[in-house]
Amino acid sequence: MAKRDFYEVLGVAKDADEKALKSAYRKMAMQYHPDRNPGNAEAEASFKEVNEAYDTLKDAQKRAAYDRFGHAAFENGGFGGGGARNGDFHSTMSDIFEEFFGMGGGGRRSNGRERGADLRYNLEITLEEAFEGKTVEIEVPTSVTCEACTGSGAKPGTSPATCRTCGGAGRVRAAQGFFTLERTCPTCQGKGQVIADPCSVCGGVGRTTQERTLSVNIPSGIEDGTRIRLAGEGEAGLRGGPSGDLYIFLSIRPHEFFQREGADLYCRVPISMTTAALGGQFDVPTLEGVTSRVKVPEGTQTGKQFRLKGKGMPVMRSVQHGDMYIQVTVETPTNLTKRQRELLTEFEQGASGENHPESSGFFSRVKDFIDNLGN
Ligand SMILES: [Zn+2]
Ligand SMILES: [Zn+2]
Repeated sequence: MAKRDFYEVLGVAKDADEKALKSAYRKMAMQYHPDRNPGNAEAEASFKEVNEAYDTLKDAQKRAAYDRFGHAAFENGGFGGGGARNGDFHSTMSDIFEEFFGMGGGGRRSNGRERGADLRYNLEITLEEAFEGKTVEIEVPTSVTCEACTGSGAKPGTSPATCRTCGGAGRVRAAQGFFTLERTCPTCQGKGQVIADPCSVCGGVGRTTQERTLSVNIPSGIEDGTRIRLAGEGEAGLRGGPSGDLYIFLSIRPHEFFQREGADLYCRVPISMTTAALGGQFDVPTLEGVTSRVKVPEGTQTGKQFRLKGKGMPVMRSVQHGDMYIQVTVETPTNLTKRQRELLTEFEQGASGENHPESSGFFSRVKDFIDNLGN
C-alpha cells in the first residue's frame, strides 16, 4: 500500500505551524490509542501512522527534508541506491543538502567563499550493536583546509589579490546592443580573487585530502534507516567558507533469529510435535547475551505466541525495553523408523476427536456442508 502523505495523516495544511501540528497529533493519538481500541488492528496501524507523521513533522530538519523529497527522504538508500556497506562514500547528494540546509549560501559570488560539500557515509551495524549502543570509529577521507596557506590557496607569505577584471565581484557585465548581460568573470572564474603565486602544498586549491578518524556515537535502541548529521565534518570550505556536513546513513543488518518491529523483537522457533503435544521447554537467545527459558504447555499449537516482557530492544532515550515475541511452529516428524511408524499408527488408531478438536470440528463441518449440497 502506498504510504499516506504525513500532512494528510494528521489532517493539517502543509503550512501548519508547530502548535497546529501538536494539537492535531494529540487529537489523533487519543482517538487511535491502543488503550482505547483494544484488539483493533486498524486503530493500531493508524496510531503508528500518526506517530510517524508527527515524529517527522515536529522536527524542523526532517520536515524540510520531507517537504522536499517526500517519503523518499527517509527510506534507507533513498539516494544513490546500492548496497550499504562500511566506507561507501557518496558526495552526490551534497548539492541537494547544500541547497537544502543552505549554510553560507550566496557567499560564493561576493568573495569567493565556498561551502564544502556534504559527505555521506554508509554505516552498517548489527542488531546487537543497535541494542547495546556503541561508539564507532570511522575513517573519513575528506578534504581539509590546507595548513600551509590556511586555505587561501596563495603561497605562504603572499595573499590572493582582488581580481582586476571584476573588481572582486566575480561577475562582469557586458553591453550587447540594448541589453546588459552579466556573466561569471573569465579572469577569476567567479572567485573574485586571483592568486599570483599558488601555494605549493595544495596547488592553489586551498585544501588537501586527509583521512580523519571520527568517533560516532550510536545510541542504544537506534532504528534502521536513521541519519546522523555531524555538522561541519564534511568537506572543508574554500577560501574561508564553512565546512560541509557529514551524514551517517545507518542501516542494521538483518538478524539470523530476530525480526524487529519498533522496540519489539519477533523470533520464530520450530518445536517438535512431541514437545508440542506433551509440553516441555526450550531456551531462546536474547540480545542481552543470556538465554531465556520458554515453557511450552501441553497441547501447544502452531502459531502460538509467547511474550517475554522487556526482552526486546531498548527504547531510545528511555529506560524502557520492548518485548520479545516467540512464535512457535510445530514440526511434523519426517524419516520415521519402522518402530516410530508403528507407534504413530497405534496412536492414530486410538485417537478420538478429543485429541484433535480443531481438525475433527473442521471435517465434521465439511461433511455437513457436503451433505447439505445434496438436498
Ligand atoms: Zn595551500
Ligand atoms: Zn574576476
